[in-house]
Amino acid sequence: TAHSFDAIILGAGAAGLFCAAQAGQRGRRVLLVDHADEPGKKILISGGGRCNFTNINAGPANYLSANPHFAKSAFSRYTAQDFIDLVDAHGIAWHEKTLGQLFCDGSAKQIVAMLMAECAKGSVTHWFSSPVDTVSHADGHFTLCSGGRTATAPRLVLATGGLSIPKLGATGLAYDLARQFGLKVVEPRPALVPLTLGGDEVLFRELSGVAAPVEARAGSGKGRALFREAALFTHRGLSGPAILQVSSYWRKGEPIAINFLPDSTPDWLLAAKREQPRTSLRKLLGGALPSRLADALCDQLGKMLQCDIALANCTDPVLRAVTARISDWQFHPNGSEGFAKAEVTVGGISTAELSSKDMESRRVPGLHAIGEAVDVTGWLGGYNFQWAWASGWAAGQSL
Ligand code: FAD
Repeated sequence: TAHSFDAIILGAGAAGLFCAAQAGQRGRRVLLVDHADEPGKKILISGGGRCNFTNINAGPANYLSANPHFAKSAFSRYTAQDFIDLVDAHGIAWHEKTLGQLFCDGSAKQIVAMLMAECAKGSVTHWFSSPVDTVSHADGHFTLCSGGRTATAPRLVLATGGLSIPKLGATGLAYDLARQFGLKVVEPRPALVPLTLGGDEVLFRELSGVAAPVEARAGSGKGRALFREAALFTHRGLSGPAILQVSSYWRKGEPIAINFLPDSTPDWLLAAKREQPRTSLRKLLGGALPSRLADALCDQLGKMLQCDIALANCTDPVLRAVTARISDWQFHPNGSEGFAKAEVTVGGISTAELSSKDMESRRVPGLHAIGEAVDVTGWLGGYNFQWAWASGWAAGQSL
């Protein structure tokens, strides 16, 4: 016999847990299903184990989506402050690290415990270690077969997230079910992911472990993005927050540009030539950048000028050209480290299919999609969880 509920939520991650708690506390009989043996595995490893649970600056401008306006409604109705209030009500201590990013002082486990306590308050039933075998829809009811049990409900929420980190249990289930129900899916791609270098640029891999504060740019037109944070050279290519951020905007075949001296003016080398005529480019760069990076750039700039001669012996046009190169250094990544290393997935269930108010499908009434499964992807820094909370809240109010 089938167990009967008001709503079935697939996926006990950030969005599913939060949505279940909201609906349960509104008196709905909610079933929360996950194939993993415990809820919120990504929350547990997030933010280096301290969970960067929101960002106080979160707003639609910090997200990628085919429809940049879609998330506005959910964000305005459930804000970062609302989540902070909940965290405070549970007595969880937190701090702001940088750029509005809020972390637990203690452990990400506290956030999962909080969400589970909120679910318990709403008498949410959960089936963990319970794979989703089939989902069907007839006569206004969804029927789920999961690990030998059957459940039915007039509402179904897709909250199984994106493809990032299959090792943690990520699957394309939300996309598969969306397609089964005739919903469009924007091509999922790995995002917030290290980029790999090949060809002539493998030289930079020798800098593995070197980090520098840079300005990184990717994309063009409306899809153009610029981030001032640290970049890190790795044995495979480029990483660090600045690179992870631009990776979400990067498309195969396109370059990314790095300004290695984001605080310098276009005239800084000419000024240096006047003030310190006997110094060399290598010495100047060595003073401003990690020395291994300065040496690698000098090796590459060797075709433009001799990096060890006095600046007095260099012409102004050459110094200007060198400055332009250092402030707009083009890398041509040959790929990324893929879903195995991507913190999130860009793309997903098309927002054109959903109501921005309650995340319900226009095509299939009663079907909702929330969290990372949807084509709304945040920057690095607590933005993705804020989307999980806001979209989960929006759906939870309407179940
Ligand atoms: P998820 O949290 O991924 O939950 C999906 C759930 O569905 C999982 O429990 C999974 O087991 C289940 N599931 C999947 N497939 C199936 C299936 N076939 N059958 C049954 N169940 C299934 N974001 C931040 O904002 N701040 C951070 O500090 C942060 N750190 C991160 C660190 C790492 C290493 C990673 C990988 C991500 C991080 N993120 C962070 C991103 C954030 O974790 C996600 O955006 C967020 O968890 C998405 O929530 P979700 O509920 O949509 O999906």
